[in-house]
Amino acid sequence: MSLIVQKFGGSSVRDAERIRNVAGIIADTYKAGNQVMVVLSAQGDTTDDLIEKAREINPRASRREMDMLLSTGEQISIALCAMALEGMGLPVVSLAAWQVGVHTTGAYSDSRVQRIDSERVQRELDKNKIVLVAGFQGVNRFGDVTTLGRGGSDTSAVALAAAFGADLCQIYTDVDGIYTTDPRVVPGAVKLEAITYDEMLELASQGAQVLHNRSVELAKKYRVNLEVLSSLERKPGTKVKEVVKMEKTSIAGVAKDTSVARIAVVGLEHNPGVAFRVFSLLGRANINVDAIIQSIGRDTSKDISFTLPRADVEEAMRVLEEHKSSLGFDHLTVEDKIAKISIVGAGVMNTPGVAARMFEALYDANINIQMINTSEIKISVLIDEEDAVTALRAVHAKFFGNGD
Ligand code: ASP
Ligand code: MG
Repeated sequence: MSLIVQKFGGSSVRDAERIRNVAGIIADTYKAGNQVMVVLSAQGDTTDDLIEKAREINPRASRREMDMLLSTGEQISIALCAMALEGMGLPVVSLAAWQVGVHTTGAYSDSRVQRIDSERVQRELDKNKIVLVAGFQGVNRFGDVTTLGRGGSDTSAVALAAAFGADLCQIYTDVDGIYTTDPRVVPGAVKLEAITYDEMLELASQGAQVLHNRSVELAKKYRVNLEVLSSLERKPGTKVKEVVKMEKTSIAGVAKDTSVARIAVVGLEHNPGVAFRVFSLLGRANINVDAIIQSIGRDTSKDISFTLPRADVEEAMRVLEEHKSSLGFDHLTVEDKIAKISIVGAGVMNTPGVAARMFEALYDANINIQMINTSEIKISVLIDEEDAVTALRAVHAKFFGNGD
């Protein structure tokens, strides 16, 4: 008997018909003799709608109350899906995170899973029940509801799979797997049979938006077998695992991220410790910085530019301005009409000519590169946002052809 964790995203449980469809998939897995644990997201755009409701009342609502509100979406889903399974005559129980004991850090709206209690879930599994768990939510040491950050239900699923040593963690979504790039934007995108954790991690954090990246980090850490597949078509998806045999090309995919911005801290003192102070302030404010460029120092001053999620710009500006005099900079500039295009592949840095091919594709499309950032498995360029789609298509075509 295998233990399988199945996670269904918002579009997969959008309405009654989709919930019945999901219940059908769960029932089949259960009837095939598996133990089944299910994690659900909120239905459709519920989370966005709840955020909008909050804005109408108080745009500066505390994160604690936001979590109280947003966590309700997932609870609706598990209750409804449990009712669908009950209707099919199957033994099922739905559990909120506090009932399971999904313990998280204290931070509201972006907390981390610290540990998961096994007693309650195990007891239900031992009674042969299908266990439905609300995704995205946890409980902190104050007994308060927390959420794991947008898209966090994937992480709930992987954390449960890791905690219970599940044989497989299936992430059901509205696409049938991981593609070399976003198939809605680039018609020539090709579905991958498998991809490594590291590549997936880069594709996710570069904006491929299929999996929450912390879920992939967790999967890698605990060697959770992941599969991404469609809830609408019954066919194999893409496996995410440690090692993957590469075919014709050394890259797994191309990603576009238009949720980035760049902040420049202009006129910093040219002293040791300045970069440390800037980034520790941002770190303490929980702001994730990506590419960093420090200009060559002038006589007495230097500039530091970095990219960060657009959503964090306001907070980053606030923190930096607050410490303007102690950091001793002149002013800040923000650029948010930018995009990041990345090629990702386990062999990127070891394959000669890959960077040149990417830059050639951009040159042929007459696109100017503003910043370049590389890692072992990725090369990213920062470009104007208005060039993003053209750039994605040009770079993808260079490595994978036009799909014809
Ligand atoms: N409902 C939450 C969100 O939209 C979590 C999730 O769907 O994974 O961000
Ligand atoms: Mg998602």
